[in-house]
This record gives sequence, C-alpha cells and structure tokens, in this order.
Amino acid sequence: MNAELIQQAADLVRSAKMIVAFTGAGISTPSGIPDFRSDHSSLWEKTDPMEVASIYGFRKNPQAFFDWVRPLAQTTLDAQPNPAHLALVQLEQLGKLGCIITQNIDMLHTRAGSTVVYELHGHMREATCIHCFAKYEANAIIQEVIKMGNVPLCPKCQGVLKPDVILFGEQLPYKQVQLANEAAQKCDLMIIIGSSLEVYPASDLPTLAYRNNAKIIIINLQPTHLDKIANIIIRDDVATTLPAIMEQLEIVE
Ligand SMILES: [Zn+2]
Repeated sequence: MNAELIQQAADLVRSAKMIVAFTGAGISTPSGIPDFRSDHSSLWEKTDPMEVASIYGFRKNPQAFFDWVRPLAQTTLDAQPNPAHLALVQLEQLGKLGCIITQNIDMLHTRAGSTVVYELHGHMREATCIHCFAKYEANAIIQEVIKMGNVPLCPKCQGVLKPDVILFGEQLPYKQVQLANEAAQKCDLMIIIGSSLEVYPASDLPTLAYRNNAKIIIINLQPTHLDKIANIIIRDDVATTLPAIMEQLEIVE
C-alpha cells in the first residue's frame, strides 16, 4: 500500500465538508460477489448477461433469467459487508458523508448500516409483477427461486415477478438518479470506489462533481476513463485502502 497516497487521500477527506461515495462492483468483490461485467471466468461463461439479464430477455424467457440469477442470488444473500462498506458507515457517522451512490444491487451498504444510499441499479428487497405491477417483499420469493428454481408468479394475476433490479435495457429509477445528480453537484469531494465508470449514465456523475469544483479520489484496481480528472488515484484493494484512510483520520484528530 502506498502510504503517501493514503495520507493525501486522508487530507482531502479531512478538509471536505460534504463527501459523496460512488461505489461499483469492486467494493463487493472482497465480499465474494463476482462482477459479471468484468468476470468472464466463472459463473457467466455459458450465458451472455447482456441477453439473459436484459428486460427483453426477461420477458422472452424468464426461466433462463432465473436459472442465471439463481447462483448470484444465493451468493448475494450469503455475502457479508467487508471493511470497505464499514469504513463508509464510519465516514457517515463522522458527519462527513452526504450519501452513497451505488451501482450495486447487493444491499451490502444498507446491511452494513449506511443510511443514505441511492441504488441506481435497484435492489433485491422487493419484486414487482410485470403484468399488474403489484409489489411484494422479495426475500421469500428469492429464497423459493433458490430452492426450487421456479419462475415466481404474482398471486393476484399469475404474471411473472421481477426482482426490483434494473436489467439491461431498462430505465434507471428516476428519483434515485435525480437525488444522485443533486448530491454530485453539491459535494466538495467524490470518492469513486471499485467502479470502472463504464456504465452510462452513472459514469457521468464524477464529471458533474468535477465541474462543480469537487475534488475526486478514485480507488479502483484498473484504470478508468476519468483518471484524468482525479486528484488522487489509488490502484489497490478497496477493502484495505478505505480502512487505511479512516485510520489516518483518527491518528491525526
Ligand atoms: Zn400481477
């Protein structure tokens, strides 16, 4: 770990008044959740997520979607927040963090204890009937899918139930995007954590923050196309980097 970069990042955090954390799949890989956009090695080699996890694919063949999502759902429900999630809880408790904007659907931020989380790609707390739009608490439904491998159906109309995750080809939740945009414009420091910033329009938020004079820290294993606007780039494991930054804060204060 680069102690000097950690120190510089801690300095930016210390002087910031309103921080926004922007998180992607990389914050959850230390919790054992694979990143299906970049991980072609394991779970996804037989299916193309762009096809099976698109809204068109879902409508055409919901069974293929649930077959695909079954191991991911199991992994997600078994996963625990890691030290990076916990560091963000700490940052919120210090009164520094305005919100977390996340591309993840795994709910690990809220399960860790963060309270202001904008989930741009939805979540697995609820499921909605694609026919009559009735909403249901998702946990029992997902547990049954994991156990039985069935396509869950709406008790009211027998329509297919879709977990409230945003599939490829679907609109992002309007309200969440609006709140995320407002936060990006208001913050004076944005910390990008484990996102390759490739997915539009979420990938525009750091630019928005930058144009409004926010400082930018990027913690990600791979380079991103926004590295050029970052004040600090740390290419290291987020689960060790974020706690190290928090530790620096405590030492000096
Ligand atoms: Zn229904």
